[in-house]
Amino acid sequence: MIIVLKNKASKDSIDRFVNDMTLKGLNVHLSEGSEHTIIGLIGDTTAINADDLQSIEIVESVKRISEPFKQANRKMHPDDSLIKAGNITVGEGFFNVIAGPCSVESEEQIIEIAGDVKKSGASMLRGGAFKPRTSPYAFQGLHDEGIKLLIKAKKATGLPIVTEIMNLNHIDLFTDVDLIQVGARNMQNFDLLKELGKCDKPVLLKRGLANTIEEWLMSAEYIMAGGNHNIILCERGIRTFETMTRNTLDISAVPVLKSKTHLPVIIDPSHATGNSAMVAPLSKASVAAGADGLMIEVHNNPSKALCDGAQSLNPAQFESLMGEIKKRAEFENKII
Ligand code: PEP
Ligand code: MN
Repeated sequence: MIIVLKNKASKDSIDRFVNDMTLKGLNVHLSEGSEHTIIGLIGDTTAINADDLQSIEIVESVKRISEPFKQANRKMHPDDSLIKAGNITVGEGFFNVIAGPCSVESEEQIIEIAGDVKKSGASMLRGGAFKPRTSPYAFQGLHDEGIKLLIKAKKATGLPIVTEIMNLNHIDLFTDVDLIQVGARNMQNFDLLKELGKCDKPVLLKRGLANTIEEWLMSAEYIMAGGNHNIILCERGIRTFETMTRNTLDISAVPVLKSKTHLPVIIDPSHATGNSAMVAPLSKASVAAGADGLMIEVHNNPSKALCDGAQSLNPAQFESLMGEIKKRAEFENKII
């Protein structure tokens, strides 16, 4: 339930109102937006009478949120959320490019590629340490050693780092990671989402392989329900009947999300297509569609990559694409 307050509502009267609602057993979410102060009531509001609330002096209007996602809902928080991850800000008005290999393979590999993507203008380094592979015989990642190498690359370049968590018992290994990725396969691992809700680290929540936008937002809601509001959504392609691309990039998810939620949204064109030749056109389309950034796989030598070489750009291709992205982001008045 959303209560829009009158602009002249005093701090004391707002505090009293919040206190009354808390005593009724509800969680109260206060959002001081650019236009209005909005109070979101979260919990079982069935016993609350909207007409009674409407008659309170400081209340301008009362609305029920019909969608099942509440805290992620733009109605609850009309202004865009800006999420801090390390030294970068992700959200409306900014355009961030996260780049790096699918997997961390060795110290030399990750330090070298980190330097390359930084030089081309990436603002964050990616690299998988725990890899969710379809085959148990495929490279599974370097695990905690991989995270240590990412931290070395962060020290060497100053780039904040993002890497994927697969197991909630590993959370302590992620203390020095700036953005924790929940991969497509774990989007509905609710125990993992609840655990991430308890920490204050930003989370990059990728869309599941065959999940609707509403299911995806409900996964964000799981994290927010625990108190962690630092979430960035990442569209990475969904399963369709099409076989010529690895997945089908749902570019329309960007404007849909922009209308439904205040959370930032970025695009991963690498996993969406599985083909390095399609990364550039879809990256450009992502800027035009209003995304807040990109996550692109870049490998020192894609033909030798231990994972996802076919979709990885080499450093020269990434350098050239960044030139194109910068022009387009500036055209959209975004800080890149
Ligand atoms: C990844 O980013 O390394 C990854 C495995 O992506 P996804 O979960 O989208 O498949
Ligand atoms: Mn990959």
